[in-house]
Amino acid sequence: MTIKSLVLVATSLLLALTGCASSISKPENQGRPNLILIIGDGFDDQQITIARNYLVGSGGELLLDQLPYRGMVQVQAVREDNPNEPNYVADSAATATTMAGGVVTSRQRVGTTAKTDEDITSMLEAAQSAGLRTGIVTTASVTDATPASFVAHVSHRFCHGPDNMVEQGARLSTATTDCSADYKKNGGRGSIAEQIASSKLDLILGGGARYFGQLAEDSNDTTVLREAQDYGFRTISDRAELKSIRQNERILGLFSGSTMPVRYRGVNGGQADFLERIDGKVVWPEPFACEINPASDSMPTLSEMTVTALRHLENESGFALMIEAASIDKQAHSRSPCGSIGEVEQLIESLQAAIAYQQTHPNTLILVTADHGHSATLIPDISGLAELEYGSPGRFARIRTPEGGIMGINYASNDSPMWDEHSGVAVPLYAIGPGIRDIPVFIRQAEIHTISLQHLGLTGR
Ligand SMILES: [Zn+2]
Repeated sequence: MTIKSLVLVATSLLLALTGCASSISKPENQGRPNLILIIGDGFDDQQITIARNYLVGSGGELLLDQLPYRGMVQVQAVREDNPNEPNYVADSAATATTMAGGVVTSRQRVGTTAKTDEDITSMLEAAQSAGLRTGIVTTASVTDATPASFVAHVSHRFCHGPDNMVEQGARLSTATTDCSADYKKNGGRGSIAEQIASSKLDLILGGGARYFGQLAEDSNDTTVLREAQDYGFRTISDRAELKSIRQNERILGLFSGSTMPVRYRGVNGGQADFLERIDGKVVWPEPFACEINPASDSMPTLSEMTVTALRHLENESGFALMIEAASIDKQAHSRSPCGSIGEVEQLIESLQAAIAYQQTHPNTLILVTADHGHSATLIPDISGLAELEYGSPGRFARIRTPEGGIMGINYASNDSPMWDEHSGVAVPLYAIGPGIRDIPVFIRQAEIHTISLQHLGLTGR
C-alpha cells in the first residue's frame, strides 16, 4: 500500500468509526464472541511516532490514532532464580506467555512458569477446549517466542526444533539453551515445532519452514512437517496456496525459512551506525530514505494472512486469533529503522482488515498492544550540542521522510556489533469492540489475558 492510499484508508476509517460509535456502546452478546489480539513486537511509542512521521507525516493520523480506546500496559517479567523479584526489562517469551496465560514468568520461558517449569494454559488453548476456533498469524517464524507462547510449553525460547533443544555456548547475551527436560524421551512435550505439529490450532501462518524440515525426535525418517500432516494439518508454502484453503482444513502455512522478509530497507543499505569523528569534528551522516525490500515481493503480507485467517476461522462458536507484527523488534535489534517502519505499516494494514471484519461482526473485540519497548529513540537529527562537536555515543541514522523532513533515530542500549536491546517502558494498548469502556486506562500485561477470556466468556474455566 502506498503512503497516499494509507492516508485515504485512515480518513475513510475515521468516518467508518465515527459512524459505528453507537454500535460500540450497545449491549454485548451480539452473536458469537471473537477475539483478535494484535501484538506489535517492540511496538512502543517511539516506534509508533517514527512510523507516523514517515508514513503519514507529523500532521497525519494513523488508523491506530482513531481507535476509541487508548491505554497503557505495564510490562511484566520476573527473575528465573527468584520469581518474587521483578525483571523490569522483559523479552517476548516472558511477556507473550504472560499475556497468553495470565501468569507472569521469566525471560526466555515459553508457556512455562519461572523456576518451577509448570505449564501455563494459553488463551488459545482455553478457547480451543471450549469449542472455539483458534489461529496464529505472524511475520516471524511460527516457532518464535511470541507465537510459541500461545501454543507451546518449553523452558527456553530457542528450542525451535528437535535439533535446537540443547546448544552449547551462549547465544547472543543469554544463557546456554537447554531444553533437555523437554525432550519427549524425558517426559516433555518436545520442541516448539513438534508441539505446533501436534496442536489443535485451526490455522497457523508465518515463517519457520527450516525447523519443520528437521527430523522429529522420535523418528529416523519423518520430518516435523510430515508429522504435522499426519496430525491433520494441510501444509502450504506460498501465496497462491493461501487462496486455495478450504474451511474444513487445518492449515499450517510456512512461507519462509525463518523470519519473513521485511517490507522496507534503507536506500543503499542505510542503517544506523556510529558517528564518524575526523580531527575531533563530528561528521553528521547523510540522510537516507526507505525503499521496498525486493525479497518481500513474493511473500504474503500480514494483511493478506489476516484476511485469510478471519475467513477461515469464521464459525458458529466464535474464534480467538493472535496476530503478530514481529520485525518491529527484530529490525530495531539490528538498528534498521526502515525495517521497523515497514512492519508498523503491516500491523496497521492488518488492523484495517480486522476492523473491516469487526464492522460486520460486532461482537469482535480487537486489542492492539506490544510485548515490550525497544531501543530506538527519536532524537534531534543534528545534536543541540553539535557546535561543541558532541553527538550520540550510540548508533545513529538520519531518515529522510516523504514529507520532506529528517528524523534522527538513535540506538544506544548496547555497543555489541550484533544488536541493541529492549527497553522496560510501558507499552500502548488500543482497542475497539464490545466492553472497551470497562478497560482501565492503565493495566498490567496479565490483564490482557483476563480481558480476552472475559470477552470470550471463558472466565472461571
Ligand atoms: Zn527482541
